[in-house]
Amino acid sequence: MRVLLVEDDEPIAESLTRGLSRYGFEVRWVRTGAEALADDDEAAIVLVDLGLPDMDGLDVCRELRARGDVPIIVISARSDEVDRVVGLEIGADDYVTKPFGVREVVARMRAVLRRVQPARSEPAQERGRVLIDRRGRRVHLDGAELELTPKEFDLLSFLAEEPGAVFTREQIMEAVWDENWFGPTKTLDVHVGVLRRKLGDAASLETVRGVGFRLVLT
Ligand code: CA
Repeated sequence: MRVLLVEDDEPIAESLTRGLSRYGFEVRWVRTGAEALADDDEAAIVLVDLGLPDMDGLDVCRELRARGDVPIIVISARSDEVDRVVGLEIGADDYVTKPFGVREVVARMRAVLRRVQPARSEPAQERGRVLIDRRGRRVHLDGAELELTPKEFDLLSFLAEEPGAVFTREQIMEAVWDENWFGPTKTLDVHVGVLRRKLGDAASLETVRGVGFRLVLT
């Protein structure tokens, strides 16, 4: 899914681009309002910083809204209520205040996308014998519901976004536990062990030595 990111702050843009691509989004990053308005590839959603070098992000939102109904999320360091209200009044769908974690942004994006595209809202994903229903936070194996704790669900759901891909321990800890997570990852091994047992031979959660894990659904 294509995301247009309008942000002049490089560290923020780079970390968002990295973070969002980890969640399967394809990010096109531009630094100015003019570039954002000149971008004619269809984005599924737009993230707009308010403090841009060439124009006010609110004007970018207003112009995008005048052109169509692409979902817009304002990202801003300004936390005052006026900007938030104005942003929403001129047609932004949501508002995130800096500093934020990638997980928070992804959650907002998914919520906005669900609201604007109710018919296409994250259908349950069936892979092999495993069916993952992210909206209902339920997993079925061979048609029977698996009992999973919230973290087990989050871990499985994260790895299943790209079956076969290797995710590093750090990526997994950051996405599933906390975006600023540092330290030992023993809790991850414990959860991996439990998931292996619960999934049985319907999936293999492979250890990639020195790197992390990959999920293979059979
Ligand atoms: Ca800025």
